[in-house]
Amino acid sequence: MARPAKTNPPANAAELRKHYFLDSYVIIAPGRNLRPDLFSHAAEPHKVPSDHCPFDHNTEPEIWQHPRGANWQVKVVRNAFPALSTDNPKAFGSQEVIINTPDHNLEFSELSVEHITEIFTAYRLRITELSKLEGIRYVLVFKNDGPIAGASIAHAHCQIFALPIVPPKIARESDALNHYWDQKNTCAYCDIIEWETSQKVRIIAEDKSFIAVAPYASSHALEAWLIPRRHVTKFAQFNATELHSLATMLKKITARLDTSMISFNYFLQESLDNQDHHFVLKVEPRTTKYAGAEIGTGVEINPVTPEYTTLWYQGKIPTTSPH
Ligand SMILES: [Zn+2]
Ligand SMILES: [Zn+2]
Repeated sequence: MARPAKTNPPANAAELRKHYFLDSYVIIAPGRNLRPDLFSHAAEPHKVPSDHCPFDHNTEPEIWQHPRGANWQVKVVRNAFPALSTDNPKAFGSQEVIINTPDHNLEFSELSVEHITEIFTAYRLRITELSKLEGIRYVLVFKNDGPIAGASIAHAHCQIFALPIVPPKIARESDALNHYWDQKNTCAYCDIIEWETSQKVRIIAEDKSFIAVAPYASSHALEAWLIPRRHVTKFAQFNATELHSLATMLKKITARLDTSMISFNYFLQESLDNQDHHFVLKVEPRTTKYAGAEIGTGVEINPVTPEYTTLWYQGKIPTTSPH
């Protein structure tokens, strides 16, 4: 197993860092950086052959698909076992699944940029439709990729949750963004782009439309945020150039994780009560398990510095591989 032990920072380089705008902290502890077992539990193949994949030969009526007919490439269906549904007032909401490709053996990161852009079309249309449902206040789009990230089905897919509440975690973030705006008369994410651009060391990738950063106070190893340069507040506001840029960056980042067989989640969300907040897509790799210190204090210990993460995504550090 090739691992970048030689590039580990010294053990005394730990640093307590505060979130850009939330009242929360992480301990970046690179003394524990990339210890041999860091990725060991992630070393399971994403591609799990299955005789019983529910997305192969899926007969569920489509909510949306592209293109129409038997040769669909992206398809939205109802979640077969929803916890939330529009006919249950006690757990009102909606859950849909976006089957990313008809091919069971393709990873999300192996799909073409054009194909990923079609998946984004599904995001745009379904977020818009679900937001119109009376009683819905929040829509989350997420991907579980790999067994550690909770993907019970290996076939590439995303999920959409529509909830009748704004989850408290999101409400807190929203309050903090509003507070930041009140204090500085500017958007926290617009400021993050400006500050990280001046700092230079945590920019994984950038182009005219998007910037991908390893956030200064990342709570997850190898965490990455994709932020549009324009103050876009709804997925439906993106133009074709921006969607192409987002697809290109997301493909590169997820391909890097796939190469190392690292499970990950990514998510984006829209809170209907807070339509003016800057869009962000967050990629959270699942490399570490939280232990007592994290669970007891809520202060997470991240064993990989965001600066190291940046170099890792850029291919400037050899990837860890179970082979
Ligand atoms: Zn399948
Ligand atoms: Zn902004």
